[in-house]
Amino acid sequence: MVQYAGLPILEDGKRLMRIVLLGAPGSGKGTQAALLEKKLGVPHISTGVLFRTAVSQKTPLGRKVKSFMDRGELVPDDLTLGLLEERMMQADAECGFILDGYPRNLAQAEALDSLLERLGRPVEEAIQIDVDPEQVVARIAKRAAEEGRSDDSEEVVRNRMRVYQEQTAPVADYYVEKGLLTRVLGTGAIDEVTQLILGVLEQGAAERSA
Ligand code: AMP
Repeated sequence: MVQYAGLPILEDGKRLMRIVLLGAPGSGKGTQAALLEKKLGVPHISTGVLFRTAVSQKTPLGRKVKSFMDRGELVPDDLTLGLLEERMMQADAECGFILDGYPRNLAQAEALDSLLERLGRPVEEAIQIDVDPEQVVARIAKRAAEEGRSDDSEEVVRNRMRVYQEQTAPVADYYVEKGLLTRVLGTGAIDEVTQLILGVLEQGAAERSA
């Protein structure tokens, strides 16, 4: 594994990083989070993936959240926080996490902080991936063709964009105020964006250990 100077390494060789990835639908967060999971050895936690799994397994939670997802609306906060809390309590999240798709509004950001405060593991970095809206539409159309996600139809995507602008975009300011937010340009090739993010993480880790 490539060594990234400055990132703290645990005894078992894993890196301790607690990262929140922000960005519009189609900004590439999920792709980057999956790559970072491999590079950093900390789990990629996507509430969207967890919800889709619950829906496909027809669990009681899945039945409750399906209609919200199909419309491109946010799942109610109590259900989302319950799901996140359960995932955060699993042993692998003790060494860190890359959160993708959470928090999606200010109440979720505050709930995350109080959960992590209780666990003694605060967020270390929030990274916002910026892309231009044209590119987002093209990426989502491509994903719809490849993955067949039921919420990637044009009408639902438009609603997800609106929900993002109204409820999720303000979350960036929450992390700016905490001095944790860095923006990276997500318009380049996948690997270039990964390198930008790793650069931010390295710098952050170096500053924290200085
Ligand atoms: P994603 O895969 O992150 O785009 O999420 C897909 C869908 O799952 C969203 O459109 C929401 O319906 C739901 N979802 C995922 N994460 C959250 C969250 N943090 N809060 C509320 N709903 C969420």
